[in-house]
Amino acid sequence: MTDRSDAWPPGEILAAYDWQDGDCFRCRDADRSVAHIATVAAPIGATVRLLMCGSCILREEEARLSRAIATGAAYVPGRIGRPAEG
Ligand SMILES: [Zn+2]
Repeated sequence: MTDRSDAWPPGEILAAYDWQDGDCFRCRDADRSVAHIATVAAPIGATVRLLMCGSCILREEEARLSRAIATGAAYVPGRIGRPAEG
């Protein structure tokens, strides 16, 4: 049963993000190609840019897809860190 992942090739999911060099906040890998997925406020009033590498993004997108299937919601890649759709 591979119908789920076949619907969204990894390359298409990753193409939904803009890439730059940086450190992944999730797996702590440094000097990777990372996508900026969110900016959060830090306690001291600064902002922190959350950057995520491709491996972590694909894992997270897979979880989003599973949630969408479970709830019957539409799945759109490229929205990690954004407010929930629908
Ligand atoms: Zn990572």
